[in-house]
Amino acid sequence: MKTYWFAFNEKSEIVVEKKAEGGYRIPFAETVPFAIKSETITLPELNGCPAKAVSIDGELPSTLEFSGLRDSYVKLPFDEYYAAGKAAELINFHTNIRFCSHCGKEMEKKTDISRVCTGCGREIWAPVQPAIIVLVSRDKDEVLLARAKNFRRPYYGLIAGFVETGESIEETVRREVMEETGLKIKNIRYYKSQPWPYPNNLMLGFFAEYESGEIKVQEEELLDCRWFNRHAMPEIPGKLSMARMLLDEWLSWEK
Ligand SMILES: [Zn+2]
Repeated sequence: MKTYWFAFNEKSEIVVEKKAEGGYRIPFAETVPFAIKSETITLPELNGCPAKAVSIDGELPSTLEFSGLRDSYVKLPFDEYYAAGKAAELINFHTNIRFCSHCGKEMEKKTDISRVCTGCGREIWAPVQPAIIVLVSRDKDEVLLARAKNFRRPYYGLIAGFVETGESIEETVRREVMEETGLKIKNIRYYKSQPWPYPNNLMLGFFAEYESGEIKVQEEELLDCRWFNRHAMPEIPGKLSMARMLLDEWLSWEK
């Protein structure tokens, strides 16, 4: 049966197939011309067809090539890119979690999303690391944007950070804005979420409003942080990101 093959090398690059008519797709075939070196992970069906994730070894035939997962966003149809994220997270999980953190014995695959210890029987599931990202606005025309040190391009994005143990996500939102900018916020509202497989995050998007304080940039993480008017926006992150979805939504509101 024809199957979508989500295949990764040890650098976590994914195999894509160049189509004769231009563009790329995930290899879709009964069998595949590459050497599978891992167990096969069964993914949810895609477009009504089976989908599998594997690790591979060796050379690819000329019709296939490797792509960074992030770069595959601009090459693949969106549903294939989206499924590739889940495939990458599961392959990383099954490849990297080899020994039990409790007793040190080997772990083996139990289900497609879990592993079990061959010694003590402890079972673990593919982890998800939640992170928040928040658009803070002031009045109706101003938005708080920050340039992080780790951004690949010189654009301005939103305040973001990981959820810490023992806190609610609303507390994370308040804490991150306070830590990075020194500002107090109010009216925190959940927007939507997005799996972010770099390597296993779940991005939770929020809107919030400025309450009080002066911007004090946290210099370890940020190069700059300031208010921008909606009519004079700097370069902002690309369409794929939750930051951009929040900004596009906010920019579509009353002008
Ligand atoms: Zn164990």
